[in-house]
Amino acid sequence: MTIHSLLTPRAHLLAVISLQLAAACASSETLVAARAGHDDYSGRERSPSAIHTRTLTLDAHAHIGFREEAYATSEMDPGGFTTLQTDLPKMRAGGLDVQMINVFSDQRPLGLEGYANALENAEISYASIDRMLRAYPNQIALARSADDILDINASGRLVALLAIENAFPFGEDMKNVALWRERGVTSVLIVHYGNNQFGGSVSPRAEHGDPEADPGLTPLGQDLVEALNNAGIIIDVSHAGPRTTSDIVALSRAPVIASHSGVRALLDEARNVSDEQIRMIADRGGVVCISTVRGYLGTFSPEYLEARSALGAELNLNTGKGRQAASQETIDTYYRREAELSKRYGDITVSDMVDHIDHVVAVAGIDHVAIGTDFDGGGGVGGWRNAAESPALTEELLRRGYSEDDIGRIWSGNFLRVMRATEAAAR
Ligand SMILES: [Zn+2]
Repeated sequence: MTIHSLLTPRAHLLAVISLQLAAACASSETLVAARAGHDDYSGRERSPSAIHTRTLTLDAHAHIGFREEAYATSEMDPGGFTTLQTDLPKMRAGGLDVQMINVFSDQRPLGLEGYANALENAEISYASIDRMLRAYPNQIALARSADDILDINASGRLVALLAIENAFPFGEDMKNVALWRERGVTSVLIVHYGNNQFGGSVSPRAEHGDPEADPGLTPLGQDLVEALNNAGIIIDVSHAGPRTTSDIVALSRAPVIASHSGVRALLDEARNVSDEQIRMIADRGGVVCISTVRGYLGTFSPEYLEARSALGAELNLNTGKGRQAASQETIDTYYRREAELSKRYGDITVSDMVDHIDHVVAVAGIDHVAIGTDFDGGGGVGGWRNAAESPALTEELLRRGYSEDDIGRIWSGNFLRVMRATEAAAR
């Protein structure tokens, strides 16, 4: 593999450490059994790191950065150090076991040309993810089902899940659903920023002629919901408008997810789910995944924003190219000084994020909440800025009195339940 020969001594070191970590997780069958609820934790070490290590952790929404074409090339090697928020060494270091990786498409005006462009971009993104999986078969593997997740995890490897953010590239041909399922897609977010051929977005785009009010699912959108149900693919309502969301939930034979949101009751942000939507999703057995996107969780202090932007400019990190070219040292410097800023001006932190988790639990119960960071797509909060810092969530949940069982539900149990129900609904 070309990438391997380009691995730096540092990446080799990280690979060795991760293999040691994998060895330490040897008794995964018992862990998996425990995670599946046969849970007698008495006599087990109860430190946050021990519980985090014992918990199957799943992030239901992340990306490969804004330069998809560079991902898994010698320019950006996810097997070694990258400036991404999530890569293989960071997942290992943070005990993040499963990552849902998105093939993302920006919304363009509808029509054959738009579909063709979107498909072209989606193919580039998919090829990059596939390249990463082929480069590191001993470290990570693609799961196509809930059982696959447990089997790959039991083998000591990391688990990738494949999702599509914005079904726009499907065009108007439902055969594309089977094609992407064949490639391993297990989740599809139907509408992103701007309405598409399937339904309305919570953020319509006037420049595309989108009406302000959500028109709901189109007849083609109804066909898509049925095709996704038949293929056993999880339907994701994040970014969908209120009417499209309720149309999807009402029509779908399987429970749905909202893969990355906050809650409207704590922050009146259109992208956030209302209590009514939380109940609607939960009543059909679905889950709301809370994100680490600061803008969904709280309001920034303008001083913090200004100071952070100035820091980014100083270190040449405010552009994709600048970030891409940044050295490890520069990134470390950024994180160190950014942490100082968040202390001085107040930041939105993992504690704020858990307030949103608490709210979903209060509205719908412990069985209807999960995690969708949006790392490398706009995610990251104080204390949980990248995959390596994932134990911070477990720590905060424990600090608030969540039991180990409940932490297992939040981190993966609830999502796995929806995945199994979706597989069972397939035809
Ligand atoms: Zn998104």
